[in-house]
Amino acid sequence: MIPYPNTRHQGLRARSTGGHSLRFQGGAPRYYEQTESGVWNGNRPSFTITCPQLANLSGSPTKNTNGVVEYECEDCKGFFPIKSDANGGWYITIDHITPWDVHIRDTAAPLPDGKISSQSARDAYNDIDNLKFLCNSCNSSKNGYSL
Ligand SMILES: [Zn+2]
Repeated sequence: MIPYPNTRHQGLRARSTGGHSLRFQGGAPRYYEQTESGVWNGNRPSFTITCPQLANLSGSPTKNTNGVVEYECEDCKGFFPIKSDANGGWYITIDHITPWDVHIRDTAAPLPDGKISSQSARDAYNDIDNLKFLCNSCNSSKNGYSL
């Protein structure tokens, strides 16, 4: 019993879901979840993982340049700081490998009624196996996901 259709077979997606810098992680989420019922409403959850945590957990290399930690972009292999340290230059973002909504529907454990809890959706959204570092230049030049 699969509560949602498997969307892996839709072909190319029209656009990237985008990456997110650390800048947003301390503040209010950009997308609000309906937490009243505890059931995920299909909206984008918020990042709970930080760049240092992702680097640590994934083993992705970092570099310390004059006291500023930089993270490796998986596409261009350059090292970039988080946005607040970038001083107008390129910065690192966290990108979803499989589109986040597809990954949630494919991996989040369903509730007995077949729905997905907000917590489970958030966990799947922050699943390090589906995250990678991309600089904002590489992230914005992506045309879409090839499946
Ligand atoms: Zn890059």
